[in-house]
Amino acid sequence: MRNFKNIKALHGITTRNGGVSVGAFASMNTSFFGIDDPKHVYTNIKIALDEIGIKSKTIIATQQVHSNKVLNIDEAFDFRTLKSIDTSNSDLQEYKLFVSPETDGLMTFRDDIVLMTFYADCVPLVYEDELTGLIATVHSGWRGTAHLMAQEVVKYLIGNEMKVEQLRIGIGHCAGICCYEVDDPVVDAFRVNYSNEQLGAFIIPKENGKYMIDLKQANAIALMKQGIALSQIEINPECTICNAVDFHSHRRTGYPRGSMSTFIAKK
Ligand SMILES: [Zn+2]
Repeated sequence: MRNFKNIKALHGITTRNGGVSVGAFASMNTSFFGIDDPKHVYTNIKIALDEIGIKSKTIIATQQVHSNKVLNIDEAFDFRTLKSIDTSNSDLQEYKLFVSPETDGLMTFRDDIVLMTFYADCVPLVYEDELTGLIATVHSGWRGTAHLMAQEVVKYLIGNEMKVEQLRIGIGHCAGICCYEVDDPVVDAFRVNYSNEQLGAFIIPKENGKYMIDLKQANAIALMKQGIALSQIEINPECTICNAVDFHSHRRTGYPRGSMSTFIAKK
């Protein structure tokens, strides 16, 4: 489990260690969308929630389609708009588990729900604003990063006339610049929203015509373009591709493989 010093809400991002899954999913796989035994997955989620100390028993997860959609779970939220997952006869049987379709981020001011997003190289972002009581988790792959997905939560706060000076953001383990090689179409997608100077801060051209890209730095720049200070952002330097001991990586193994998850809740 990894977490951020600057985030005080109950939160964590899982690794591939400490769970009960076997084979390609060993041992901590938290995704119930794939072919892993769902009972193992639900046990893994329960292990992660207990380790973080989360007491809330209503979990909302994202479907994740590389969109820029962040769903706000407000007090009047209608849970019937979500897909309900059957966790009976598992270690999550006392929990309610919902999936939000076509959503890549979740935010709330409520203290009775757990927010959950999935990863295997994409960038996990965790948000907390002590002033307003906001918590959020956002999934930002290269597409999301190119489309400034990290800004969506900040834009919501600014759009609702809330201050962002006390917003704290964690950027977690994901594909690192040491390993994440991309080609021209990916770099071209970044040219739309980032200046040449900004691109130079997170993309390194190689002699083979490809590029190494730093998605963590790109997300930090996206946040700073919205007025967030570097001091408000904490970045975990670990790379999911080269650290096979601690992390699942789609780039390294393809599928089948496990997924890691971010969990955040206020209590
Ligand atoms: Zn690496």
